Amino acid sequence: MIDIKNITKTYGHGGDAYTALHGVSFSIAEGEFVAIMGPSGSGKSTLMHILGCLDTPSEGTYRLDGKDVSTMTDDELAYVRKDKIGFVFQAFNLLPRTTVLRNVVLPLVYANVPSEERDARAKEALRSAGLDASHFSHLSNQLSGGQIQRVAIARALVNEPVLILADEPTGNLDSKTSLVVLGTLQKLNREHGRTIILITHEPDIAEHANRIIRLRDGRIVSDEKNPAPRDATRETKLYDERDTAASLTNKLP
Ligand code: ADP
Ligand code: MG
Repeated sequence: MIDIKNITKTYGHGGDAYTALHGVSFSIAEGEFVAIMGPSGSGKSTLMHILGCLDTPSEGTYRLDGKDVSTMTDDELAYVRKDKIGFVFQAFNLLPRTTVLRNVVLPLVYANVPSEERDARAKEALRSAGLDASHFSHLSNQLSGGQIQRVAIARALVNEPVLILADEPTGNLDSKTSLVVLGTLQKLNREHGRTIILITHEPDIAEHANRIIRLRDGRIVSDEKNPAPRDATRETKLYDERDTAASLTNKLP
């Protein structure tokens, strides 16, 4: 699905030029769940913007489903961004004082989906992201961090993209909420066959993927299969059990 070769990205010109990626190459097949891990400043977001067709490389080639992205017209690129790829960002913005359902319907309005189809598709995406009907009419500013991130995932899913790009989606969340979000991504990958690229600086988070690509200073330092990915849904249950045990202990005289 994704094939990049010798991708270089240089920001600025002359003396101010800074090269954030130095010849990065890999292929990702449909249905993979890959983590791209590296410390802050290693070039993860730069790479994600290129993979998401939000930015272009300075050098190298990017083929998406066999087609060289640099030869795509503006219309083709807009189609890819709107229909093929779902983005989940750390600093995403839900519209405040707007219902959960409306936040997920909006991308369909922009995609010219007929109005009679929009609600049903948005509700289906919300359910896949783990939110039920009782949440649909909540206002986005009344939600917890984990619920907000689920709405963000639903919004990324609603156009039924084949590829989900998530840049530090658990960045602002506590450990348990992070697991809930990771569980949602794992489920989308396992049960719905979505290709997922998860960007993170945390090894604990990356270990939930089936393959881990490590970046440092704009270069790949390793690219390995993860033979035993952690199961976020199981880990969430362990948290729940611990919380239950703690609340029982608190009730002891
Ligand atoms: P990460 O997401 O891994 O933290 P980034 O891809 O955001 O890393 O950044 C990699 C490097 O490129 C950093 O040193 C950053 O300062 C630099 N950089 C990122 N975006 C720009 C930009 N628009 N202009 C100049 N330098 C940039
Ligand atoms: Mg980043």
